[in-house]
Amino acid sequence: MKKKIAILGSTGSIGTQALDVIAANNDIFEVEVLTAQSNADLLIEQAVKFKPNVVVIGEEMLYDKVNAALDSLDIKVYCGQKSLASVVENESIHTVLTALVGYSGLIPTINAIKAGKHIALANKETLVVAGEIVTKLAIEHKVDILPVDSEHSAIFQCLVGEYINPIEKIILTASGGPFRGKDKEFLKSVKKEQALKHPNWDMGAKITIDSASMMNKGLEVIEAKWLFDLKAEQIEVIVHPQSIVHSLVQFEDGSIKAQLGLPDMKLPIQYALGFPKRLKSDFPRFDFTNYPNLTFEKPDLETFRNLGLAFEALSKGGNMPCILNAANEVAVDAFLKDRIGFLEMSDIIAYCMQTINFVEKPSLEDYIETDKSTRQAALNKIK
Ligand code: NDP
Ligand code: MG
Repeated sequence: MKKKIAILGSTGSIGTQALDVIAANNDIFEVEVLTAQSNADLLIEQAVKFKPNVVVIGEEMLYDKVNAALDSLDIKVYCGQKSLASVVENESIHTVLTALVGYSGLIPTINAIKAGKHIALANKETLVVAGEIVTKLAIEHKVDILPVDSEHSAIFQCLVGEYINPIEKIILTASGGPFRGKDKEFLKSVKKEQALKHPNWDMGAKITIDSASMMNKGLEVIEAKWLFDLKAEQIEVIVHPQSIVHSLVQFEDGSIKAQLGLPDMKLPIQYALGFPKRLKSDFPRFDFTNYPNLTFEKPDLETFRNLGLAFEALSKGGNMPCILNAANEVAVDAFLKDRIGFLEMSDIIAYCMQTINFVEKPSLEDYIETDKSTRQAALNKIK
């Protein structure tokens, strides 16, 4: 029997690469659900090619267009956020790949876990916002959360076979993004066009800005805490501009294991979908002689404040990472619309972390309320 996959966010960077992986392994995987927010044309194209059981378009006014285009095929078409949140419960789905952006991934992921689906998790913000609730639910419902993020996939791969051995610490690698080595004076006036040029990875706009500001690494630190049950002191970040060593685990005997490869998200996507099997691939192979210098350096927390803010949010716990995430989503959106400067993103996040009500043991409703009030406060600050 083929593994039936639901891809939330199939028209994005991760979603399209996941479909490449599935197309190359169509004897193993089958597409059950595809979803997009507004890119109806690509969603239709994907549906015609992969013939899923269901597609969902987020924007309701695009429903007629998608429905008409798929009329002659045996594909159910739904629209809106409610459908997106419930489509993951379809009985036939084996694994849900969460490849949508930001907070929008939270409720669909929770519903998928409650319905007993395994999660291939790209949408790191879900764990940043409500990691405690999500990981507890996964244990309760006996589902796997398999990381797609390359660093977390690397750590996960290093841990295979090590389940009786405690982790001393993990070392997350960061490329440093397009502004590595720059100072605040330079960053003051950078524009989105510069920030959107990532040296090693071709990704969606939000995560590319997060990479330039180091918030992506901050979100990944929090993601790692929940995936691998770690304390903040056990998580270290090191800048590695070549993005070949994808991350490392240090064990209690001092030994360090790393996972290496060319920067290509298809590998961690395929590993998560195929787990526990390593599927054969024709991805380009890494050659050491092309990379005689793999380098490592300390992150510059002075210039890139977001990474420090994320560690602070992690240490405070409660709803603080949720505040950090919501403020960051608003700030990134405003930066992409040329409404604020690059450095102001950190100012807005720090402001929200100081002013929004702290809740030590939040319920899901508290997280929803925190997300809402933080967005409002961040928007008011920007006006
Ligand atoms: P993209 O922006 O490329 O794609 C996002 C996808 O989600 C699209 O299909 C988009 O639809 C859909 N979407 C956007 N907003 C919403 C919404 N509000 N509700 C429902 N669907 C929505 O993002 P990426 O693929 O780059 O990233 C996806 C996730 O994976 C993020 O959480 C990111 O942090 C994580 N990730 C990405 C990596 C990468 O290499 N890209 C690496 C590691 C993690 P539409 O196209 O119609 O707008
Ligand atoms: Mg990553």
